[in-house]
Amino acid sequence: MNDTLKHRGLRNKLADILIDKGIVSTKVLNAIRTIPRHLFIDSSFEGHAYQDKAFPIGAEQTISQPYTVAFQTELLELKAGHKVLEIGTGSGYQTAALLHLKASVYTIERQRELFKKTNIFFKKMGYRPKKVIFGDGYKGLPEEAPFDGIIVTAGAPEVPKALMSQLKVGGRLVIPVGMNDQIMTLYIRKSSTEFEKTEYGSFRFVPLLENKN
Ligand code: SAH
Repeated sequence: MNDTLKHRGLRNKLADILIDKGIVSTKVLNAIRTIPRHLFIDSSFEGHAYQDKAFPIGAEQTISQPYTVAFQTELLELKAGHKVLEIGTGSGYQTAALLHLKASVYTIERQRELFKKTNIFFKKMGYRPKKVIFGDGYKGLPEEAPFDGIIVTAGAPEVPKALMSQLKVGGRLVIPVGMNDQIMTLYIRKSSTEFEKTEYGSFRFVPLLENKN
């Protein structure tokens, strides 16, 4: 598969749909207009790649819906060079959005099959996260902490304490919290002990699983 003018046109339309849904960040919209989402999914879904939908990517996981990726990325308020931890690499589409914003990205995936597949895909595409890790993101990545941003792309029954503690002061944690449906939640670290919490709309993610490796 390759990337064509037709794909680019479809991406521009997708960005327009996201604008209608309330996404305002030019940088985030440009990521949507640039990243060839059809290359992140099985070719049998290619025709659907630029609809605002989630899709299966194998191992019972999904590539996040473009709106969700845009919404979470916008909440991170990334600046070039920010150090970001992503929990749930999956297809790598969200990772590519973070890289497009020139963040320094560390990403963790607990499904070995997806971890391997996406790692190969990153190399093929020339995407360069700082580290792609096979492991349990529930624990975060203490050896690389603290982070300017942490994004969780699976539904967390509760907020893992380790992730809160690995945020810089001023850093932002974007995490969908809940069992069946999740409330998108933003924590901003105000000091070593204080966090400001803001809740957004309801989303649906595959579950964040703990200690199942
Ligand atoms: N950002 C991805 C979303 C994939 S779905 C994309 O856009 O494609 C969520 C991913 O989180 C799945 O791949 C799942 O295997 C992974 N996951 C679930 N629990 C995890 C954990 N504790 N640590 C790391 N990854 C986890």
